[in-house]
Amino acid sequence: MDFQLSDEEQLFQKSVHEMLQEKLAPLSRQIDERHEIPSSVLEEMGKMGLLGVTIPEKYGGAGGSITMAALGAMEVGAADPSMATAVYYLLEAGWSHLTSRLGSDALREKLLPAVASNRAFLGIATTEPGGGSDLAAMATRARKDGGRLILNGEKSFISGVAEAKKLGGGHLTLMKTDPPLKHKGLTFAFVPIASKGIQTTVLHNMGRMGISTGIVQYSDVEVPEENIIGEYNRGFYHAMLGFNYARTLVAAACVGATQWALEVGAEYIKKRSAFGSPLAKYEGVSFEYADLAVQLEMTRTMVLKAASLLDAYDRGEKVPMRELNMAVAASKLTAPQLALDAVKKVMVWHGALSYTNETLLEVAMRGILSYVVGAEGALNIMRLILVREMLGPEYLPYR
Ligand SMILES: Cc1cc2nc3c(=O)[nH]c(=O)nc-3n(C[C@H](O)[C@H](O)[C@H](O)COP(=O)(O)OP(=O)(O)OC[C@H]3O[C@@H](n4cnc5c(N)ncnc54)[C@H](O)[C@@H]3O)c2cc1C
Repeated sequence: MDFQLSDEEQLFQKSVHEMLQEKLAPLSRQIDERHEIPSSVLEEMGKMGLLGVTIPEKYGGAGGSITMAALGAMEVGAADPSMATAVYYLLEAGWSHLTSRLGSDALREKLLPAVASNRAFLGIATTEPGGGSDLAAMATRARKDGGRLILNGEKSFISGVAEAKKLGGGHLTLMKTDPPLKHKGLTFAFVPIASKGIQTTVLHNMGRMGISTGIVQYSDVEVPEENIIGEYNRGFYHAMLGFNYARTLVAAACVGATQWALEVGAEYIKKRSAFGSPLAKYEGVSFEYADLAVQLEMTRTMVLKAASLLDAYDRGEKVPMRELNMAVAASKLTAPQLALDAVKKVMVWHGALSYTNETLLEVAMRGILSYVVGAEGALNIMRLILVREMLGPEYLPYR
């Protein structure tokens, strides 16, 4: 067991940190207010290989590992705690990784170089108005017709709808292809947002304002079979693998946001005085700081363990799937809650100042909440995965 990052990983993290602190960190408030990540930042991220961090070099990516993608997510979360840039980054990294692994050659050649160079946005569409957690209950259907699928239905709360429309790209979309088979009858395929028969609506969110969330409606949309990820009717399992990558990156972004909050908090409590002493001298404050710092270190270690297990899985090593699923679910369960807790406590240390837009704490709180209420999987679903792995599937409430 090695708790040290390799030289290559350390160098990667350092150079990403320096670039993002210079180019992205000063823009966090602007991103929140103007509802857009400046294209200059995305171009810089693309140039550095961040947008295609795990995409193989032959498709224009950096050919890195999930551990490197997680280190990148930590840095993005720390540089823009609104979470908008983190969402953009981790959706692209997580779902392009799955496409690299399971997409057809034609899809990889068409999509991956465009994603890596920010000429296309790649997201995921599984959630529907009728529910997001219970995927097998989805209503979106597709039927085979010659060499294509014909797709009808609706997805909701889909990140990157406006970005995909502006830039090109689309979403890996889960659809029911064999309804009687329930979750064994789902197929996962890339659906370009510019396809004929698609209508979109952008929703008004409360946070992470720099990336849109919206509704996508499909009316007889033609999806070429070469856009299918993995195997027909195996979409549920492929999406679950993709969620393992993406949830690890969500957790990593929340580790970054927690790190940011604690740095902001430490600076403030050292300089703000009350009753003749800096706040950091009062144990009511400093002990909270110490507890949060310990929880941050534990969470970072768990997230890196999840990333490292995923890397081993990708290398084809024999990985205990139970341990892998638990590490990912535990990371997605704890990291967003820790980030929210840290931001809330640091806000209280700041007193009234935190309730104004003089600090970025309110921006961070609104952004992080998206990962507490549901994005990339609700917290109770993470608990259900842990119950399934630890107590056994017979203790799941719906069995
Ligand atoms: C900002 C944002 C961006 C998003 N982006 C995307 C995206 O890009 N693509 C996409 O497909 N989806 C996206 N989502 C949707 C997200 O995946 C869903 O919110 C999530 O899967 C939960 O689904 P739901 O919101 O329909 O809640 P529901 O499934 O209706 O669940 C509601 C509540 O009930 C709890 N619950 C459900 N089942 C159980 C159970 N068996 N036991 C105990 N508790 C349970 C859940 O934990 C949750 O708290 C996004 C969400 C947000 C907030």
